[in-house]
Amino acid sequence: PKKEWQIQFADDMQEFTKFPTKTGRRSLSRSISQSSTDSYSSAASYTDSSDDEVSPREKQQTNSKGSSNFCVKNIKQAEFGRREIEIAEQDMSALISLRKRAQGEKPLAGAKIVGCTHITAQTAVLIETLCALGAQCRWSACNIYSTQNEVAAALAEAGVAVFAWKGESEDDFWWCIDRCVNMDGWQANMILDDGGDLTHWVYKKYPNVFKKIRGIVEESVTGVHRLYQLSKAGKLCVPAMNVNDSVTKQKFDNLYCCRESILDGLKRTTDVMFGGKQVVVCGYGEVGKGCCAALKALGAIVYITEIDPICALQACMDGFRVVKLNEVIRQVDVVITCTGNKNVVTREHLDRMKNSCIVCNMGHSNTEIDVTSLRTPELTWERVRSQVDHVIWPDGKRVVLLAEGRLLNLSCSTVPTFVLSITATTQALALIELYNAPEGRYKQDVYLLPKKMDEYVASLHLPSFDAHLTELTDDQAKYLGLNKNGPFKPNYYR
Ligand code: NAD
Repeated sequence: PKKEWQIQFADDMQEFTKFPTKTGRRSLSRSISQSSTDSYSSAASYTDSSDDEVSPREKQQTNSKGSSNFCVKNIKQAEFGRREIEIAEQDMSALISLRKRAQGEKPLAGAKIVGCTHITAQTAVLIETLCALGAQCRWSACNIYSTQNEVAAALAEAGVAVFAWKGESEDDFWWCIDRCVNMDGWQANMILDDGGDLTHWVYKKYPNVFKKIRGIVEESVTGVHRLYQLSKAGKLCVPAMNVNDSVTKQKFDNLYCCRESILDGLKRTTDVMFGGKQVVVCGYGEVGKGCCAALKALGAIVYITEIDPICALQACMDGFRVVKLNEVIRQVDVVITCTGNKNVVTREHLDRMKNSCIVCNMGHSNTEIDVTSLRTPELTWERVRSQVDHVIWPDGKRVVLLAEGRLLNLSCSTVPTFVLSITATTQALALIELYNAPEGRYKQDVYLLPKKMDEYVASLHLPSFDAHLTELTDDQAKYLGLNKNGPFKPNYYR
């Protein structure tokens, strides 16, 4: 029998959270894989698309060890890709230390992981960590546009069976997934998915594979939603881990990542100066709080709109004026939506905005600003830059619309590697947990990562800041009724 893998804490992790109530609708994974063939205009991919036009499927390529167990755009880009991976590693020290800590132990020895994620320098660090922990990996891309070709080449050169390139057709997309799953003499026993397409393919084409699968780890809102549907229909035949709703990951995706990227997105597109500008932020949830903190720090005058009295009161306590959008719409310089709702900014609001008002969205998809209402004959659209449209009224007034109302930061800025490190570490630990869990700990259901592992993800990131945790004394632990090694908070604490 397999020895259960333990990280730094000694006692077992009995505690896990079943997660039947709330789906991960609110959160947004780094992956924007609402649909795998959606356009992904990511500044995070540096791949030059001007490569030759021969489909990678037609090419015969081998890496320097003579293996051709991969399909990428151009294996010759491997060295460039390796540099990109090394740059990413610098801000992903948690994964590097996971590699070191687990060196002798190999908690993923025998794991055969089939993966489908964005293929970028950051996911490469994850994949190579899984390999260092003992796993064999076969990988495809969860989005047809997001692959960094040079990174895929570097992975292939390092011996990972990767099937992905930027600009795949829909047919290529499924072909790549199929090549990962359908391989003579190799059968996956773990799935790492981002968006649920891989899981869906295995269900549809190779249901027998599930006999060997010990678990599915899913990171996106969409994929998690699909898993809950399967579970509800009684069709989920293996345990699945929803990493999207891990506390650490969510805080970083929503609050901290937006705090970092809102200004980046606005500045890259408009060169606007924020000091003294009047900005209205719709929604004071996690994303709104992050945006407001950044704007306030630059000296902007920030107004909030909210429907929820608790969040409204929090905004008051943080020193923001809570208003109705109508009350400030004529005077503000910037309007930012982050509600996850629809039609928060209507045509009526847009009609009343002042000249040069900037309008953008940080919330889910492109429903928050009623962009469709601007497609009327009397308004002229002028594309002034990539992701920047001027919508011009008959009297000459211009409204500056960013990314056509889609998520500003994902469309117009990059996501910090550190944020992706949190996600990747969460995924790695979820795989380790599911792979090593004793029989019976997880049933055919969807679970959250145990709190203690969530805490472990955070603790692996502390050394980057030379942060020193205080340890509970025995007496204090007894007083609080806690184990000295955690978990330090109840499951419901977010
Ligand atoms: P949240 O639920 O914490 O916050 C949303 C807030 O909007 C709530 O407080 C709600 O009361 C308020 N709200 C709803 N309708 C409103 C309306 N009509 N007017 C004013 N306020 C309204 O959710 P969150 O975690 O802050 O996420 C918000 C959105 O951002 C979601 O759609 C989420 O998917 C998305 N998101 C984006 C990113 C990104 O990188 N841009 C990251 C994470 C999440």
